Amino acid sequence: MRSVVSSDEWLERIAGIRQWARRGERAPHKPLLLLYAMGRLQRTGSTEMTYVEAEPVLAELLRDFGPPGRSSSPAYPFHHLQTDGLWTVTSPGGGDLGSSSSQLRRACAVGRLSPDLETALRTDARLLVLSARFLLDANFPDSLHPDICSLVGLDLEAVEVQAVRERAASLRRRDPQFRDAVLVAYEYRCAMCGYDGRLGTEAVGLDAAHVRWWAFEGPDTVDNALCLCSFHHKLLDRGVVGIGDDHTVDVSARFVGRGRAAEVFVHELLGKPLHEPQRGHALPALDHVHWHRGQVFSAPARKSA
Ligand SMILES: [Zn+2]
Repeated sequence: MRSVVSSDEWLERIAGIRQWARRGERAPHKPLLLLYAMGRLQRTGSTEMTYVEAEPVLAELLRDFGPPGRSSSPAYPFHHLQTDGLWTVTSPGGGDLGSSSSQLRRACAVGRLSPDLETALRTDARLLVLSARFLLDANFPDSLHPDICSLVGLDLEAVEVQAVRERAASLRRRDPQFRDAVLVAYEYRCAMCGYDGRLGTEAVGLDAAHVRWWAFEGPDTVDNALCLCSFHHKLLDRGVVGIGDDHTVDVSARFVGRGRAAEVFVHELLGKPLHEPQRGHALPALDHVHWHRGQVFSAPARKSA
């Protein structure tokens, strides 16, 4: 049975690629091919590329970001990366492929990351980010990283955000029942405007809104939530509307809007009591209400008529 290579081992292998480098001379050929393959994976879901496709891009990368004054053939990394066990080159006709540009072109050579590495990079966003960041840091100054990423079509920031979010979510598990519990408690009706729309049997445009934000230790509990339509959820989170100690609706004096919709959906709510949840549940607890007022609500509140 083949042993599965862990993400950390892949990272070590990528960090250990053999580069022709001595006396401080740069040899970014293999790193650039790896980065190009990662960009391709991100854009197309596969790293497979024919030599004919890769050649002009690699030539441009080597010309712009390779060491000056040394002839750098795209065939060099395309062929030699195979020795590091991260890359395979095949040809439809089989047989000896050779290592020069003309040989690779003639053989219609096809290169791709080794399938196990490709799968690991596809399924582990953190591995993709760490590998790419390592290759960039080890070979180029920070000032060139955005240009290289742009040329190879690699959007690391998007992946980083996603990887961080996945990590954060794994650190603190959210309660998957939260939304249902809140919507049922409020009988699928916005606690501010009473909106209760459905599409077929499915509630639409209704959210379980945290009063004290989840990111600030707000618990996934009904007494820290309101069932709100998507619009009032947004206004609550932006601090346009808030909740008074008597569970009536506050409206920020800084909110302006003179049209009919602003009148009906915001101004007319001022001072109105929230729709209560069904028996057995309570309106939001005051310590959560106070957190929202202090941290989110855009003070001062409008005066009731
Ligand atoms: Zn509403």
